[in-house]
Formats: sequence, C-alpha cells, structure tokens
Amino acid sequence: MKLKICEYCGKNFEGEPNMAYCSRVCMCNACGFEIETKKCKNCGIEFETLTDAIYCSFECTYNLDEEIEVTLP
Ligand SMILES: [Zn+2]
Ligand SMILES: [Zn+2]
Repeated sequence: MKLKICEYCGKNFEGEPNMAYCSRVCMCNACGFEIETKKCKNCGIEFETLTDAIYCSFECTYNLDEEIEVTLP
C-alpha cells in the first residue's frame, strides 16, 4: 500500500500503485459515468448505482428477503 492522490477529487488515499482514484465513485465520475447514491425502496439502505435502479440488490428487487411461510406437515 502506498499513499496516493486521487486523480479525480485530489484526496489522499492508500492504494495499490496502479490505482488512480480513491474510490469507485471517483473512478466512475472520471470515466464519465454518473454514479448516484440512492435509497433502496425495499430495505432503505443507501446504495450507489449507475442505472436508474430503485432497489439495492437482486433480492430487494424481487423482495426475496420477505419471510416465506413454511408449512410443516
Ligand atoms: Zn477521489
Ligand atoms: Zn435493499
């Protein structure tokens, strides 16, 4: 690990010698992608996305974390 300066935001960070940016957000911004922080409509967790997704994960998209009723014999 080496102390580096992010090429996008100028923050100091520790990273591998081949890393140019402090975070995924800076990397995406530098590449011209707009990354947004959103709140998941299902679980309320904050997540970063490049798309217009409203859920943080596949599970939330399909509400798979809902309790499934199991009927025992
Ligand atoms: Zn940065
Ligand atoms: Zn979620």
